[in-house]
Amino acid sequence: MTFREETGWLIEIVDGGVPAYWGRGGEDGVLGWTADHIKALRFARKEDAEMVIEEYGWTRARAVDHMWCDYSHAWEHVAVVGHECCKDCGIVRRADDKNGPCRGPMKLRPMEKSWPVSSHPL
Ligand SMILES: [Zn+2]
Repeated sequence: MTFREETGWLIEIVDGGVPAYWGRGGEDGVLGWTADHIKALRFARKEDAEMVIEEYGWTRARAVDHMWCDYSHAWEHVAVVGHECCKDCGIVRRADDKNGPCRGPMKLRPMEKSWPVSSHPL
């Protein structure tokens, strides 16, 4: 399933209005400040991020909560339909691949009560 949301605590420092995060930002793979939140270290708890801030003595850094959302579809070929459909939401993949974001598993609900069918003349 590709429909998912992840949350975590990052260590952020804002320099000149631009946020940077503690993580593996460089090509050499060493820890440092990066503008890419995807490469930031993710802490499950705020106090753990704050512990690292305190350990390094960073006075301008702070722990910030962050959410990453992946609303991409999980395409699979459905022989009965003859097209690729999303396993999560059921939408058919457009030929130009410009479908909107996935809304996750479909939720079915009872049909709303409408007029009695038998009272309508044909
Ligand atoms: Zn979908």
